[in-house]
Amino acid sequence: MATRHVIVGAGPAGLAALETLRALDADARLTLVCDEPAYARMVLPYYVEGRIDECAVATGDPGWFEELGVETRFGVRVARVEPDAHRLVLDDGATLEYDRLLVATGSRVRIPPIDGADAEGVIPMWTLDHANGYLAAPHGETVIVGAGFIAFTVLDAIAKRANEVTFLELEPQILPRMLDAPSAAVLEGRLVERGIAVRTGVRLERIESAGRRRRLHLAGGDVVECDAVILATGVQPNVELLEGTGVDVGQGIVVDERMRTSAPDVYAAGDVAQGPDLLGGEREVRAIQPVAVDHGRVAAANMAGADVRYEGALTMNVLAAQGLEACSFGRWSEDGDVTRVENPASRVVRKYVWEGDRLVGGILMGPSVAVTGAHDAGMLKGLIQTGVPLGPWKAWLTENPLDLRRAYVASGAAPRLLASTLLAGRAATGGGFRWPRVKPARARSAHHGVLVSGATR
Ligand SMILES: Cc1cc2nc3c(=O)[nH]c(=O)nc-3n(C[C@H](O)[C@H](O)[C@H](O)COP(=O)(O)OP(=O)(O)OC[C@H]3O[C@@H](n4cnc5c(N)ncnc54)[C@H](O)[C@@H]3O)c2cc1C
Repeated sequence: MATRHVIVGAGPAGLAALETLRALDADARLTLVCDEPAYARMVLPYYVEGRIDECAVATGDPGWFEELGVETRFGVRVARVEPDAHRLVLDDGATLEYDRLLVATGSRVRIPPIDGADAEGVIPMWTLDHANGYLAAPHGETVIVGAGFIAFTVLDAIAKRANEVTFLELEPQILPRMLDAPSAAVLEGRLVERGIAVRTGVRLERIESAGRRRRLHLAGGDVVECDAVILATGVQPNVELLEGTGVDVGQGIVVDERMRTSAPDVYAAGDVAQGPDLLGGEREVRAIQPVAVDHGRVAAANMAGADVRYEGALTMNVLAAQGLEACSFGRWSEDGDVTRVENPASRVVRKYVWEGDRLVGGILMGPSVAVTGAHDAGMLKGLIQTGVPLGPWKAWLTENPLDLRRAYVASGAAPRLLASTLLAGRAATGGGFRWPRVKPARARSAHHGVLVSGATR
């Protein structure tokens, strides 16, 4: 009999799992249940900015699900899971039986205990409905409460839509969980230069309506008035389906390196899962898209009967805002054996965190050409992810921190990364994406010999 796999959640974790399951088991019965349509939250900023249409936010059309042979139940909410009976109860009381279940329910906005934070006109920016809510309401003067990663992913879009943008942040710096204080100060300088008001170290106490406008009361008596309030004060995993069932639930649903929960045949993936850390830290929720995809693929491979171990998630934040790019990886916040360069004039920052001759963390910031344009972000991530010993290249990088490329090529990080690619590409299908037939160039660049020579000079 064909195995019955049920996936709850049509975000990146759920969709990656479906593709993998189908690739590994042509006969499996696949059912997807989700209360929202399938779309990528990550591209909502481009939609709000007007760079893409609403239809481009979607990640799975009916034809693709049909091709994969997936029975879809959109607009349906799962009310609870009964792990002992291998059964789901839907919100209309119907039940659904499974042999193996994947909970990929993501996370939702955490509304802070601030008077008026749940009032109409106070909009989190987490779902497509939120994005449409912001676009439909007056937003000439917009206040963003919380200057964390999600706030910055939408900043350019908001800055384009609104005449005035103000950040209110409780911590003494912007992006407190992504950048160290000196790097944050460099980025804050750029925002201020571009006319974005930044107020750090302020506590919002109350939001009240003032006609069609909002009035925000800060501790100490200051009042800020605006048309729209975006609440970007964090998210929390949707663990409720398994809470109280005896399954191990902490900050998220606790999973092992095969993405198994503590209940037989129940797996969890994505923002909802509290899983292994690449650098050997505690199991943690890492609410980012690449982790969701990796989780989904590993969970599905194991659900299909393969034995695939997940190496663990790397702390990783990458964003672009106001003409600058910033990223941080691994143990970026640590001091100690650190290489750091900063050019406030061009707003370039580099920080490398060392353990012996291995890179274990880092921060890059600057205009695109200094971060992703030169592929430096990818190379720094690869060096941290593989943990390759850099030997003499540590001294080279300490002296030439802007020249990651030679160290990356000489260290052999790339072939290691290729070998560690999840499932070595076996389970990857087209995913419905349409690319023109681009082929890699055959000829090597003039720099190739220098780059692969393996010597530091
Ligand atoms: C504006 C914005 C920008 C972002 N930018 C980035 C970025 O630049 N880089 C990055 O890495 N990440 C980014 N993210 C985060 C990224 O989108 C998430 O990490 C990712 O969506 C998590 O995928 P997931 O599959 O775990 O969950 P989700 O995408 O949240 O999908 C889970 C789905 O399950 C549904 N669901 C929940 N409970 C139930 C239930 N009981 N029954 C039925 N269905 C249920 C949910 O409604 C949802 O549709 C961004 C997020 C936002 C909002």
